[in-house]
Amino acid sequence: MEEGEEGEDYLFKIVIIGDSAVGKSNLLSRYARDEFNINSKATIGVEFQTQSVDIDGKEVKAQIWDTAGQERFRAVTSAYYRGAVGALIVYDISRRTTFDSVSRWLQELSTHSDTTIARMLVGNKCDLENIREVSVEDGKSLAEAEELFFIETSALDSTNVQKAFEIVIRDIYNNIS
Ligand code: GDP
Ligand code: MG
Repeated sequence: MEEGEEGEDYLFKIVIIGDSAVGKSNLLSRYARDEFNINSKATIGVEFQTQSVDIDGKEVKAQIWDTAGQERFRAVTSAYYRGAVGALIVYDISRRTTFDSVSRWLQELSTHSDTTIARMLVGNKCDLENIREVSVEDGKSLAEAEELFFIETSALDSTNVQKAFEIVIRDIYNNIS
């Protein structure tokens, strides 16, 4: 994190990780631009987006990084994690394998980041209730065991997207102020 020239601005780097196609890019585009893409390929290439949030009258800038598809080749680089103070670890509630991968992502995160990093477990695609493969309880208990925040979201219908990012941003802010 860095302080701006006025001594009032904060810049927080936040990374989004998780298996391919869980909705990472769409969570970011929904949050930063209120956009959703049915075709996932449309979002490849975005490096990060910056979103300003007002907290207690202070301007906080969240610089949110997207893997831009790197995770497909199992090559999310250490540069991606460098300086991150927050992380969203995303799985797809309709695909159990993506939930099973969470521990691997947590492992990778811990080797590349500080222990104080704010971490949120995100069960995305909660609009797909009819084909759910991961219960809310399973998400909650993993989050409790690993001491993560937990939320279910839908980038498609916007459920909890803003909340997911803002809980992380506020936690980072609270820990430094
Ligand atoms: P990424 O590989 O993790 O970045 O995933 P994308 O954001 O590219 O999304 C992968 C696919 O899932 C795309 O076809 C999206 O339209 C779809 N998707 C993303 N979020 C949601 C969601 O909340 N609900 C549903 N039903 N589909 C979603
Ligand atoms: Mg993506």
